[in-house]
Amino acid sequence: MEIDLSPLDLPEFAAGAVWLVGAGPGAPGLLSLLALYALKQADDIVYDALVDPRILDLARPEAIRHYAGKRGGKPSPQQPDISNRLVELARQGRRVLRLKGGDPFVFGRGGEEAQALEAANIPYRVVPGITAGVAALAEAGIPLTHRDTNSSVAFVTAYASGGGLPEDVDWESLAKGSRLLVIYMALQNLDRIARRLIAAGRPPGEPVVIVSRATLPGSRVVETDLENAAADAKRAGIEAPAVAAVGRTVRLKRAGP
Ligand code: SAH
Repeated sequence: MEIDLSPLDLPEFAAGAVWLVGAGPGAPGLLSLLALYALKQADDIVYDALVDPRILDLARPEAIRHYAGKRGGKPSPQQPDISNRLVELARQGRRVLRLKGGDPFVFGRGGEEAQALEAANIPYRVVPGITAGVAALAEAGIPLTHRDTNSSVAFVTAYASGGGLPEDVDWESLAKGSRLLVIYMALQNLDRIARRLIAAGRPPGEPVVIVSRATLPGSRVVETDLENAAADAKRAGIEAPAVAAVGRTVRLKRAGP
C-alpha cells in the first residue's frame, strides 16, 4: 500500500538542508508521516545503529546510506566527524536525512549536531520521534503519569561516555524529586544507580520494570525491584537496548497479554 502524502501539505525538503529525524523506538509503524516523507525525499541518509533496517528500506533506492553507529567492535565515528559529514553533504546541495533512534533530541547527541549545523549556517529541521522511554512503558502497559501515583516523570541516562554515571545527574535529588524514573542505557550501571536511589531513601522493594527491545521482535519485560534489579536483569539475560522504570506506577503494569 502506497501512502499518498501529497494532500498533507508537508514542508519542502530543500536541497542543501539537513533534517534531524527521529525514527522512533524500532517498529516501523511508529515512524511519523514526516519521517516517512523525509525517507522518500532524501539524497543521503546518515543513520545510527538503533535504526531498524526495515525503516531504511523505505528510502528511495537511489539514496546513499551512510552508517554512523557502532558495529562489530570497530571504533564508532567521532561526533565531530558525523557533524562534519552532515555539513559537507549539505554544502554539496544534497537533501540530507540524519536518522536517529527514538527522538533526535533525547540522549542522542542531536543537540550537538544541531549546533554544528547552526554554526555552519546550514538550514535544518528537527522532526521528533517517539522516544524509547515512552515506547517501553507503553509496551509494558505502564502509564507514564497517573493521578493516583505520579504527576511528574524524569527521564535520565545512566551512562556517560567514559562508562560511569553522568556527572550532572544528582541521584539524591532525583530520588526525592520524581516518583517515576525512566532510565535510559540502564543495564551497565543498574546496580550503582539502585544503590544510590536506596541510599537516598527509595524503598529497596520499590517496583522496577526493565524493557528491552521495546516494539521490536524479541522484546522482553522483566519485573523486579530496586534491590534485585541488576541481578534479575543479568539472570534473565536482558540485553541492550533497554530502559528501566522505577516507581510505584510500575505496579499498574498490564497483567494480561
Ligand atoms: N534518542 C533515543 C535514545 C538514544 S540512547 C531515544 O529517544 O529513544 C540509547 C538508549 O535508548 C538505549 O541504551 C536504551 O536505553 C534506549 N532504547 C533505544 N531503543 C530502545 C528499545 N527499542 N527498547 C528499549 N530501550 C531502547
